[in-house]
Amino acid sequence: MITRPTGDADAGFWWQGAAGAGVRVAFTSSAAGNLALHVGDAAAQDDDGPARREVLARRRALERRLGVAAGRLRFLEQIHSAEVRDVDGPETADAAAPVGDAWVSPDGSDPLAIMVADCLPVLLVGARGDGGAVTGAAHAGRPGLLAGVLERTVERMRDHGAEQLRAWIGPGACGRCYEVPEAMHAELTAGRPALSSRTRAGTPGLDLRAEAQAVLAGRDVSTAELSGCTIEDRTLFSHRREPGRGRFVGVVWRPEGEDPRSGGGARGGDAGAPR
Ligand SMILES: [Zn+2]
Repeated sequence: MITRPTGDADAGFWWQGAAGAGVRVAFTSSAAGNLALHVGDAAAQDDDGPARREVLARRRALERRLGVAAGRLRFLEQIHSAEVRDVDGPETADAAAPVGDAWVSPDGSDPLAIMVADCLPVLLVGARGDGGAVTGAAHAGRPGLLAGVLERTVERMRDHGAEQLRAWIGPGACGRCYEVPEAMHAELTAGRPALSSRTRAGTPGLDLRAEAQAVLAGRDVSTAELSGCTIEDRTLFSHRREPGRGRFVGVVWRPEGEDPRSGGGARGGDAGAPR
């Protein structure tokens, strides 16, 4: 397990690393600010209010740090489903965000963001036969995880020729913090032993990370796991700790100018040995 090996607080990253084929993976910290339009002040504004413009400015700032052009980083309208989409080229200026909870860039060229605050952000990279990469990003909270969002993302990536899939499970609510009612615990963990946990207080809990790990391992996806807990770590946003304050993002991207066949990329080491 990796515990914040290359935290880069100054740049607003909680963690980032290289994933091969010029692809990088990262999770922002609360220092990067709220990146979602549907929570916080921005949620009250549909059009062009100052809070909304602030969120968009933070997204532009993140794009600069990622080394991608303005407007290239793609966001979904996430609905806690198992809906997986292919990216269909660069976003047009006024287009609404596509609806879904995971997406895939078949050639790794589109930078993908997934917004979270307690749900798990899962970033995936697969090798292609031509030396390139297939990338994916999934929002794996309780409903999506149980509905099969990870299975479907993996399947979609393999449909696009992804081999040797690796996944980075980012920070979310941990099994020691994520308390649920006894009846819900009994219902959800039947047949899913990895999902069951006890909280610090000894009450029934859910361990989304262990369940995600089990799902991915069962599909021959190796995982480089990061151990952060959003409820405990105040450098991350948490819906349970502070509802509506903000969302951070998991991002998988290839900085512009990176050669897909260069291996690790120019800026930094490998993102940790997958288990
Ligand atoms: Zn915790």
